[in-house]
Amino acid sequence: MKPAVIIHGHFYQPPRENPWTGQVDAEPSAAPEHDWNARVTKESYLPLVSVEVEEEGKNTRVPVYDYLSFDFGPTLLDWMEREAPEIHDAVLRADRASVTRLGHGNALAMPFHHIILPLANRRDKTTEVRWGIADFKKRFGRDPVGFWLPETAVDRETLDVIAAEGIAFTVLAPHQVSKVPERGLPAKVELNDGRSIAVFVYNGGLSHDVAFGGLATDANRWTDALNATPPDAIASVAVDGETWGHHHKGGDKALATVLHRLLRSEKLELTNFAAALATHPPTETVTLIEPTSWSCAHGIERWRSNCGDRIKQDVPPHQEWRAPLRAAIDWLADEIHGIYEREGRDLPGGPWAFRDAAGATGSAPRLVDMERGALSAMTSCGWFFDDIAGIEARQVLRYAAHAITLAGNESGRLEAGFIEKLGEDRNVEVFRQTLQPTPS
Ligand SMILES: [Zn+2]
Repeated sequence: MKPAVIIHGHFYQPPRENPWTGQVDAEPSAAPEHDWNARVTKESYLPLVSVEVEEEGKNTRVPVYDYLSFDFGPTLLDWMEREAPEIHDAVLRADRASVTRLGHGNALAMPFHHIILPLANRRDKTTEVRWGIADFKKRFGRDPVGFWLPETAVDRETLDVIAAEGIAFTVLAPHQVSKVPERGLPAKVELNDGRSIAVFVYNGGLSHDVAFGGLATDANRWTDALNATPPDAIASVAVDGETWGHHHKGGDKALATVLHRLLRSEKLELTNFAAALATHPPTETVTLIEPTSWSCAHGIERWRSNCGDRIKQDVPPHQEWRAPLRAAIDWLADEIHGIYEREGRDLPGGPWAFRDAAGATGSAPRLVDMERGALSAMTSCGWFFDDIAGIEARQVLRYAAHAITLAGNESGRLEAGFIEKLGEDRNVEVFRQTLQPTPS
């Protein structure tokens, strides 16, 4: 068998919609575009639909999504369907084309919100996974086989929940398993009640060099690196989709060139994870190192403490706000779940089955909207960056504020309790700024 190559892009933006209007407010830092979704769309999502490649004196257009393994955050697809429907349609078409070509689709599902699943309780994990799967089926018209975990954040319960929902595999970083499986082949993690799940461990060196080491813009070096794949091995690269175009200008062209060469290669076979799993059922068993993620060297501390990980290395760190923000959101979610369970006890099927069935979008009773707000407020981007006053943390605070307004006569108590948990004056000041809907 020829060695196989899988290139995966995780395409995602923090949700930016004002929860009071459902529209994205202007983000001046994204100028000249209206907001960052529009900016990254122009730099990455749109160009990747069709990239012109010059090889051996001939120009060809490469529909990148047709040949790339990918996951798109449901909240990003939701925005794209409204604001860039031609790209949304191209992504859905690309998945269908890959099913025709390989027998298995390129697209992986994701939880509806980009939340750190190990930080959520089992019931919230299950709802997020069910909402994500429902959204996937609605868009792609098929059941998902693979599931991308936000920040690849994992614990055993997370895998057990996705396996219980019928998911066959996920993708992890090398440091997240006890032993990296041989030759890039999928391995198995044993779970509850006789369940198990397959995990692909991406090639850490290659992925790092694509994301940060210059391969993303150098098709020749990247091709050489892939040509070194040993016989019978699978070389899988997993990076953020925005690597191509947004993070690295010209990355779209290099990626398309590499894909174009792989499609014509006599040495290598270009495939996707689901197709590779079908031909390589796991034989090895590995155990998880948990909880861990791909973007925090300290497990999942980045989303609940001042672990030291940050974006700007040249300014003194000031992430002491992360722990109180996590405490405040966790407290609020618990309170809201209590109100929901009490006031929603007569919802058909019971409150929790009703929440799952209602889905993440569309019209729903006030109580379900309140629950949606509590889950939206767990979006990981709120903690990922350096400052609680940044647009991503503010977004999480806006979701919290909006959920609080939906809590009826409990609103006053929730607002007071939330402010107490936020602690420091600066945290509270930023929260208070989110209480008024901002004009777009
Ligand atoms: Zn960290």
